[in-house]
Amino acid sequence: SIAIGILALQGAFAEHKAALLRLNLNRGINVVLVRTPEDLSQCDALIIPGGESTTIALLARLAGLLDPLKEFGKIKPVWGTCAGAILLSESVVGAKKGGQELLGGMSVKIARNGWGSQVESFEAPLDLNGVKDASRPFQAFFIRAPVVLELSPSSNDPPVTIVARIPLDLLPPALMEENMSEEDPRTVVALRQGRHLLTTFHPELTEDDRFHEYFVASCVLSS
Ligand code: GLN
Repeated sequence: SIAIGILALQGAFAEHKAALLRLNLNRGINVVLVRTPEDLSQCDALIIPGGESTTIALLARLAGLLDPLKEFGKIKPVWGTCAGAILLSESVVGAKKGGQELLGGMSVKIARNGWGSQVESFEAPLDLNGVKDASRPFQAFFIRAPVVLELSPSSNDPPVTIVARIPLDLLPPALMEENMSEEDPRTVVALRQGRHLLTTFHPELTEDDRFHEYFVASCVLSS
């Protein structure tokens, strides 16, 4: 069996746990709520939930988890959702005063709260690539979500696969620009790089477990 950890310092970790348990169906997934380096050392993969990225980073530092998390990401699959996506990015704009510690690991530049302050949260059906039943849209919840600004893998980095985009005409008004291309990085809301997965929305807040399934099947079991 495989042990999938969920960083459980703050945020939506219980919802991720419920999704993994729904998916499990005797397939041998052990869910570990990670609060200490010891917990982390038992895990084969990790989910970093949404919540508040500055708080999660601060609590990780206090728990002595910051360096173990960075090391973990160098060898094992990690999936960051929303605040977790910020932590997996190489660089962030719009961080709180005092800065934002990042774990890094994905060649992404991201904007914290990038949909604009007037858009607290919204829903949108996503266009999928590589996820099960990809022709059926995924109804995604975005909550003070980050926005991907740039994808910039260098030649040594694993290539990036775009797993979901938000349709251009559903972008929040704050992000709309004239003549924006459908390939604009700001439309990317889920991407995979090597064994890591990043989603700017909250798949754990729906009963549609296709992203959890994708992470387990494509990032964990086949890497
Ligand atoms: N805006 C939050 C942050 O900066 C992320 C929001 C979320 O995870 N729902 O951490």
